[in-house]
Amino acid sequence: MASETNSAETFVEKPKSFASLREEIAAGRTKAADLAAGYYARIEKKNPQLNAYLSLTKERAIEQAGRVDALAAKGDPLPPLAGIPIGIKDVLMMKGAPATAASKILKGYLPPYDATAVQKLDAAGAVLLGKLNCDEFAMGGSNENSAYGPVHNPYDTERVPGGSSGGSAAAVASNMAVATLGSDTGGSIRQPASFCGVVGVLPTYGRVSRYGLIAFASSLDRVGPFASNVRDAATLLGIIAGHDEKDATSSTAPVQNYAAESDKPAEGLRIGVPAEYFAEGLDSEVRAAVEKGIAALKAAGCTVKPVSLPHTKYAVPTYYLIATAEASANLARFDGVRYGYRSPSSQQLQDMYCHSRDEGFGAEVKRRILLGTYALSAGYYDAYYLKAQQVRRLLAEEFLRAFAEVDAIVTPTSPVPAFKIGEKSDDPVAMYLADIYTVTASLAGICGVNVPCGKTQAGLPVGMQVLARHLNESTAFRVARAVEAAGL
Ligand code: GLN
Repeated sequence: MASETNSAETFVEKPKSFASLREEIAAGRTKAADLAAGYYARIEKKNPQLNAYLSLTKERAIEQAGRVDALAAKGDPLPPLAGIPIGIKDVLMMKGAPATAASKILKGYLPPYDATAVQKLDAAGAVLLGKLNCDEFAMGGSNENSAYGPVHNPYDTERVPGGSSGGSAAAVASNMAVATLGSDTGGSIRQPASFCGVVGVLPTYGRVSRYGLIAFASSLDRVGPFASNVRDAATLLGIIAGHDEKDATSSTAPVQNYAAESDKPAEGLRIGVPAEYFAEGLDSEVRAAVEKGIAALKAAGCTVKPVSLPHTKYAVPTYYLIATAEASANLARFDGVRYGYRSPSSQQLQDMYCHSRDEGFGAEVKRRILLGTYALSAGYYDAYYLKAQQVRRLLAEEFLRAFAEVDAIVTPTSPVPAFKIGEKSDDPVAMYLADIYTVTASLAGICGVNVPCGKTQAGLPVGMQVLARHLNESTAFRVARAVEAAGL
């Protein structure tokens, strides 16, 4: 191990699979309560250095574990996630637990309800451990924009875990949770999963309800799982997916048995490789690892062919127009009146709004509100927002054309492996440009999976992004399983 990876591997620890934990609990060899206690002990030990958790929900976890243990003691059938310890990104509501979105402006806010995805985990018997750190309002790609300090990468604590769901990725990589939930608007599940060497899923837009997710950019926001292996990620998606009358954009399409589908061999699947994702700016070690992943797919009986996605170069500006425009509208609700922080130093109502927002929001959030407000302002709407929507359509059509010829498209998830904390934080444009491989699928509404496909010489994980057409998560999982099985 190179000396550069300071304290490397010391925090890295692979959780047991759902199947083995379930078997232990059903057979009475492990009590859900003891499993949860073990996780809290590990969190106590590792979290001070990693900063993945912002708050813990012990009371609820103990109660959930107790319910599972009572069922197991009676020999009753166990629900699908019985006793599995899971962490939740702090942009999702858990009733009565702090939901800060890693922002000072929401400090002290206690939501009165569960997000739909959280409620479904609860109903499936999961034990919810606590709330996970992230970039403020999910805006960022390094977790450095949290008002509560950065998360550290378990592979090298001087490096970022990726973002915005950095806590969700780092918690799985360090076994401070068996699995977690995150959100992905422009890469926030896939990119941290790639930096931390875990599996992360971008479900099709509308596949998982957004109810109870603190909104960033509503036409792009998705809720999805992280796990230590593809099958567990597929299992989790199967539980949180489905129509929800509380989210008007949620799909009514039937939910597949993703875990069972992921067991099917990838043999015969047609894989597309877009040249645009292997061009200038791609780190040579990332390229080499992803190429090994592609070779593994060939060895598994897939056919690999080039596809073309020429609008890729417009994706970053398009994404940053749409995402900031929607964010500027969504974040208008944080005014010091209805939620969280209120500036104590104001005499007039108008001052109270201004001071609360000025003191409550961090620099990146303010930058995006300014950008988005500008893009939507009179006289600029047609030139910016409308134009971006037109490019978005072209990008989506381009993917659909490619998917007429291939079943899945594989790319690097990020052009670089995990970078050093502070390395890019003064350069927002460099940070935005690093989203190049993930924002395309976000704009197109299609689904994808990050699957680990090797490491750099310094021991940093590299991820492959497997994309599939709308509602074809099963195909993405099959391909990811084949890469995983190669043990790269
Ligand atoms: N890094 C991207 C951004 O900063 C994506 C964030 C996300 O997916 N929430 O907007």
